[in-house]
Amino acid sequence: MTEHRLAQPYAYRRQELVEPDWTRLPGWRGVTREQWESAQWQRVNCVKNVRQLRAVLGSCVDERFYADLADDQERLATMSMLLPPQMINTMVPHAVPDTESFYADPVRRYMLPVASDRHPVWPSHPYASRDSLHEHDMWVAEGLTHRYPTKVLAELLSTCPQYCGHCTRMDLVGNSTPAVDKLKLSLKPVDRYDAMITYLKAHPGVRDVVVSGGDVANVPWRNLESFLMRLLDIGTIRDIRLATKALAGLPQHWLQPDVVEGLERVARTAARRGVNLAIHTHVNHVQSLTPLVARATQTALEVGVRDVRNQGVLMRGVNASAAELLDLCFALQGEAGILPYYFYMCDMIPNAEHWRVAVWQAQQLQHDIMGYLPGYATPRIVCDVPFVGKRWVHMVTEYDRERGISYWTKNYRTSIEADDAEVLERRYPYHDPIDTLPETGQRWWQKEAVAAG
Ligand code: SF4
Repeated sequence: MTEHRLAQPYAYRRQELVEPDWTRLPGWRGVTREQWESAQWQRVNCVKNVRQLRAVLGSCVDERFYADLADDQERLATMSMLLPPQMINTMVPHAVPDTESFYADPVRRYMLPVASDRHPVWPSHPYASRDSLHEHDMWVAEGLTHRYPTKVLAELLSTCPQYCGHCTRMDLVGNSTPAVDKLKLSLKPVDRYDAMITYLKAHPGVRDVVVSGGDVANVPWRNLESFLMRLLDIGTIRDIRLATKALAGLPQHWLQPDVVEGLERVARTAARRGVNLAIHTHVNHVQSLTPLVARATQTALEVGVRDVRNQGVLMRGVNASAAELLDLCFALQGEAGILPYYFYMCDMIPNAEHWRVAVWQAQQLQHDIMGYLPGYATPRIVCDVPFVGKRWVHMVTEYDRERGISYWTKNYRTSIEADDAEVLERRYPYHDPIDTLPETGQRWWQKEAVAAG
């Protein structure tokens, strides 16, 4: 009898991390390792506009790309351009990019969107909105969102060392773009932090603080350390998570001696007081993981941070296949010391339809990645449902596949619903991207759009 050995749907092979050679790019031919590993050099040499990108890539990429990028910046971008060299270097990482490979690159697709990426008919869902999660509505002090009963999100500032095209906080984070005039934090940082601490002291039921922004890597270390120490002085706070995409986008920041020493002081204090201190980062593609990212993570763990976890965003063209998710998760877990924790479905913000996936696609992906990674390191794919919060994608209560409307329920009240008796009975909708619907569903939305004017 002949034995047929069928291949697994996904074949795991260990891949060690490699720092892409930055000198392959014309603008960085003479850049030394010392310069590259300096956070200061990385920040000074960030790419903020088409002219600066051209200075790095030169004629590797033709004018069609630069014009496409300028068009996007002018009409559609919800985030301004800001890319540390470290991030650019992970695009087309092991070859000199050309126009086609640069267009096709998954990191480029979400960090440096161009007009031709956006969906031509439905660039935005009709129900897309700025602040789609209503975080601002749930501010209990400036920048402090109290959505879940026991947890808060503290937005210490509104900037990051890098801006992601799909940022869910596009309403607040980064500089205004021609398409989006951003909300501004109005209090002085010191007053904002004081108001947050006052609220937390007065609400002992809040035990978990996500310290975010923006990205905490942009808070001057002294100020961040002082805020964290004040949090650690509140006996009812038991979990603190620092949100920083810079761990992957600018690992040089987290390797600076003053930052490492400060982090050690905070981690030691947290351990002494029995508080779980973790870093939450945001990596969407395996290309972004390099030895420098692993070194920054390892350093944070060595100085006593209890865990480093990843919260990626699921996006078409970037990581929306089981193989891409598993490649990323194995590299996070096995090479970089980062726990694969969540993948969020991309939120319903303007001009994001080409990235978003439908709930049924996310369910399929969750199904397809089960059983390969250790159970504790198998990420959950979640939908952040407006007015509800995170739900695992299989928790949908009802689902109209034709119109792409899923309905969800919740088991707690947010801070703005104390007087609403119906909250726990209500069903909350979430919408699939219209281009993923059957013809009949797409036609229904077209009529809706016409009726709405
Ligand atoms: S790092 Fe986070 S907050 Fe900053 S732009 Fe990216 S997604 Fe937004």
